[in-house]
Amino acid sequence: MLNVALFGPPGAGKGTQSERLIEKYKLFYISTGDLLRKEIAEESKLGLEAKNIIASGGLVSDEIIVQIIEKTITENQESKGFLFDGFPRTYVQVYILEGLMIKLNTSLNCLISLDVDEEDSVTRLLERGKTSGRSDDNEEVIRNRLKEYYNKTLPVLQFYKDKGIHFSINGANSIEKVNDDISEVLQNELSKSLLNIVLFGHPGSGRGSQGMALAKKYGLEYVSTGKMLEREVEKKTETGKRIRELYENGQLVPDEIVVQLIEQKIENSKGIKGFIFKGFPRTLVQSYILDGLLKKHGSAISEIIEIEVPTLELISRLDARSKTDRCMPYDTSTTKIVQRLQEHETKTVPVIQKYNQQHGVKKINGMGTFEEVFEKLSNEIERGFRKI
Ligand code: AMP
Repeated sequence: MLNVALFGPPGAGKGTQSERLIEKYKLFYISTGDLLRKEIAEESKLGLEAKNIIASGGLVSDEIIVQIIEKTITENQESKGFLFDGFPRTYVQVYILEGLMIKLNTSLNCLISLDVDEEDSVTRLLERGKTSGRSDDNEEVIRNRLKEYYNKTLPVLQFYKDKGIHFSINGANSIEKVNDDISEVLQNELSKSLLNIVLFGHPGSGRGSQGMALAKKYGLEYVSTGKMLEREVEKKTETGKRIRELYENGQLVPDEIVVQLIEQKIENSKGIKGFIFKGFPRTLVQSYILDGLLKKHGSAISEIIEIEVPTLELISRLDARSKTDRCMPYDTSTTKIVQRLQEHETKTVPVIQKYNQQHGVKKINGMGTFEEVFEKLSNEIERGFRKI
């Protein structure tokens, strides 16, 4: 999702810019001012409560704002993102917005402030007042709205400056120039939104070959921890030598090494559309690591897919593979195969269950030909792309 808040004093041009942005980026527009005016027109209980405050140029209570905004957001969570106009307007509303975003498992990408002088705002609003029909577009109320803005709304900026997602744009420029400047920020944000897929499945489910083929087709980076470790050993790097020693002593590779390798991989992957993680996370600890690593890069898991194959079919596939040159060192005997399946059952299945509760896991039937399963997975990836 692309979630943006337009910020600035009354008359900065937020409404005008919003019209263009929602059209261009297909965002769902939320103007708390419009929502309140609708409540007033419908003479609802909320509208009646807000009416006099709006008429005097004050800010309506945060309680009222929560009620109108929560409903609108939850009813439109399938949208490509939200464009907030006139919200958050108080420090309390900043936290309301944070909470609402968490509830949708997303976050605000940026807050863009349109900077205009106080006197310019007044002139613009008086001009608008001639045609807007808004009772609060008269000089006395305008001055009060600006006072509220400088006292209660301006401090909101600091929160987003601290978070590093505040962008300032000169709102005195022409409508076109302001629009271009905002679009530049949004394009940059969009290029950061990655499609991150976690691909689960028992050993033998085809997750490796499917994962690699999907990555190739969709411009995603395939991240297989097993392969990354093997490569380090082959390249005889310092880490590779340590991994080899651990292998030789029959020990597991500690998470510290895996974290470092994945971190490097994420940092070095430029110009890609996202990642497909295979064989990671394998444990609950690793699931927290992945969340943290992606968060560090302003990203998050987009989709979790599990390829399901019945156990007997898995054993027969792994057994067949063990007799070919694609035989892995860990499927040379039935004991080893059973051990891997058991390891998946005890350590990785709880991770899938956790994700199922948190995000929902899409199950794909892994029976059938490679092409048949690939098509089902492709549909899922394309659905994921449409969502971001
Ligand atoms: P606007 O259309 O954004 O200029 O808002 C018009 C009026 O609605 C403001 O002057 C406030 O009285 C009220 N209002 C709009 N949004 C908010 C908000 N987020 N918090 C408090 N009051 C708001």
